[in-house]
Amino acid sequence: MKSHPALTTSLTDDVAEILIGEQEIQRRVRELGAQITRDFAGEELLVIAVLKGAILFLADLIRHIDLPLSVDFLAVSSYGAGTRSSGVVRILKDLDEPIEGRHVLIVEDIVDSGRTLDYLLRTLRQRRPATLHVCTLLDKRERREIDVPIDYVGFEVPDAFVVGYGLDYAELYRQLPFIGVLKPEIYE
Ligand code: 5GP
Repeated sequence: MKSHPALTTSLTDDVAEILIGEQEIQRRVRELGAQITRDFAGEELLVIAVLKGAILFLADLIRHIDLPLSVDFLAVSSYGAGTRSSGVVRILKDLDEPIEGRHVLIVEDIVDSGRTLDYLLRTLRQRRPATLHVCTLLDKRERREIDVPIDYVGFEVPDAFVVGYGLDYAELYRQLPFIGVLKPEIYE
């Protein structure tokens, strides 16, 4: 049987550059968790992660939030196998629970054009949460097309397509423990 190259070589071989290393991510996630714990002291949080990119970040972040919290998930349409947003956002999987009157924290992997987050904020605001805040691991600020309010940012990243720590290219590379840039030949 002919095997896929990814099964015979390391995924790390496809990475041209590591932008943010594992230790750096873990240090920053700890800081964010501590900051969120302080900011929401005395409250109960509903943490909403946007699938699938935010799953690793969510799993690490909530371990550093020392508050009563629940977790829910939303899935929105993504880029598919491309690397640029189509600008069209759709909810593919909605929340399990109502959010009215709750203190909601949206956890995102990356904010790029801002279209996804803008759509999510508009949609979730209509459901009347008590408060609505945003925490993103990565902020690709120079590509912003819509000004969206972000309360917590892990790292600002340059205008490059990044993978790892939850972020994919064509559904691969999510499990890399760092944030990296792929070699150009991977996209060809
Ligand atoms: P926006 O709507 O802000 O343009 O894009 C947000 C979504 O696009 C993110 O949640 C993520 O799924 C995807 N995205 C944007 N930039 C990147 C990137 O550099 N790498 C990966 N893997 N996904 C990205």
